[in-house]
Amino acid sequence: MKIENGELILEPDEITLRPNIFTSAGRNGTLHLLARQCVDCGDISFPPFRHCLKCESDKETVEKVLNNDATLLSYTIARQVMPGFNPNYILAKVRMEDDPTLVLVAQLTDIKPEDVAIGMELTMVPKIIKQLMNGQKVVSYCFRPKDPSKVSLGEGGQSE
Ligand SMILES: [Zn+2]
Repeated sequence: MKIENGELILEPDEITLRPNIFTSAGRNGTLHLLARQCVDCGDISFPPFRHCLKCESDKETVEKVLNNDATLLSYTIARQVMPGFNPNYILAKVRMEDDPTLVLVAQLTDIKPEDVAIGMELTMVPKIIKQLMNGQKVVSYCFRPKDPSKVSLGEGGQSE
């Protein structure tokens, strides 16, 4: 897995967690998550929904490129993991900057457990989060510290 000009390039044995969750349509040629937004109430859904669950508008939602920035709300360290996952990964709840009600559950990556702090600023990065029984590797959205001094490559999650 690599990112070239904001485009996610997968190896033949890699798949994304869901289809069409990443887009290179973001600012500065970077990779972003692709959500959907209600044209009536503005609610942002990710994973994306075709229809708004908040106001139940009958109009279809539209694509919305998310800012990659998020804030750490809470986390736990998974000591007992399902087969295929790395032991001791850090599972986090993060609040996306785009919408204070948009909270995602994802792994933290590239950080030492002792550097994790509630409220810290994070940025989205795709990473391999698990390997399937058939050998395929699953690439999903993870979050790493926005502060480069807190980034510790290869810690938590899996390095590519
Ligand atoms: Zn709505």
